[in-house]
Amino acid sequence: MSTHWTRRQFLTRVGAAAAAIQAFDHLDACCVFAADAQTAEKDLFELKKVADGVYAAVAAPRYKVNSNAAVILTNDGVVVVDSHSKPSAAQALYREIQGMTKQPIRKVINTHFHWDHWQGNQVYAAQGSNLEIITSESTKENMTKPDAGVGGLSFIEKQLVNVPKEIEQLKNDIQQASSPEQKARLEANLQQAEAYLEELKHLKPTLPTRTLTSSVTLNEQGREIQVLLLGRAHTSGDVFIYMPREKVVATGDALIDWMPFLGDGYPEEWVQTLTALEKYDFTHIIPGHGEVLPKEHLVFYRGYLTDLIAAVKQAAAAGASLDEMKKALGDQLAAKYEQAMSKYPLGRYRDRIGQNVEMVYQKVVKKA
Ligand SMILES: [Zn+2]
Ligand SMILES: [Zn+2]
Repeated sequence: MSTHWTRRQFLTRVGAAAAAIQAFDHLDACCVFAADAQTAEKDLFELKKVADGVYAAVAAPRYKVNSNAAVILTNDGVVVVDSHSKPSAAQALYREIQGMTKQPIRKVINTHFHWDHWQGNQVYAAQGSNLEIITSESTKENMTKPDAGVGGLSFIEKQLVNVPKEIEQLKNDIQQASSPEQKARLEANLQQAEAYLEELKHLKPTLPTRTLTSSVTLNEQGREIQVLLLGRAHTSGDVFIYMPREKVVATGDALIDWMPFLGDGYPEEWVQTLTALEKYDFTHIIPGHGEVLPKEHLVFYRGYLTDLIAAVKQAAAAGASLDEMKKALGDQLAAKYEQAMSKYPLGRYRDRIGQNVEMVYQKVVKKA
């Protein structure tokens, strides 16, 4: 049976769904979504034990986003995966680590080049000269070349231009707030934006010191840590950190508990890369954003990408315009994905579905 829609069938669905449609025209950068600042329980992150000597620093969902980090203790020192979005957050995690061990931080691994995963590197580099900062060659290239996307040196310059504008906008919005609650939320967001700008102005961007073109195994005093390059996914240079004995993987944003950000991604290759990851034996995922997850989440998340790609291809083949697709597919995929992809106050299904549809349309259909 053919599952292809005619344009007429497609438009009928659009019409039926019209009442439920929201505006999906967010085109915000990776992680800069307005979220309810009041929902954050802890300011920065919560440290959670995942296995013996392995911890996830699960970032609090805040207006000014922060990524998760992973902390791996060895007999000889500490390995940290991702350094948050800003030095103050990295500093806070560093203090926590010092409370657990007197050993130095030996290695930092950056999973990809996005701003919220490496802008805290300088804190660890300042602890001593022996720190190795490891990533893929492609990620380091993305950090240093102009216009790679939402991260790297050029994106720091962009933020220095854009965050002041965002601050002005927040001030205007506060003036026009329609309720005390909204005003309080915007004021909290303004405070975060202003504090972030101050850090940005004084940032000492610290680039990786060691780059990889293929997977390697680090033997850190008996603890085996594999740094896997499995193909392109969320970016061109994603790395995965795999500990076979502990059955833990840290994935950066190639696997998160929010809706994915596809702006710098490779949707079809992403599916294949997750399939390559699935072959490894693990039980716990430390994702780039959100709580620690079971392995089943990989199947769910890949299913979303697969269904999204298929739906966009099908709608495009039926002659739907991009606007029509954004509206219709948001509703079409909602039953299966909306609830599970809207657990946090940011990165929610309805925040990102329009943008996801557009990215797949541009990267998969138009390019094809
Ligand atoms: Zn991120
Ligand atoms: Zn990212």
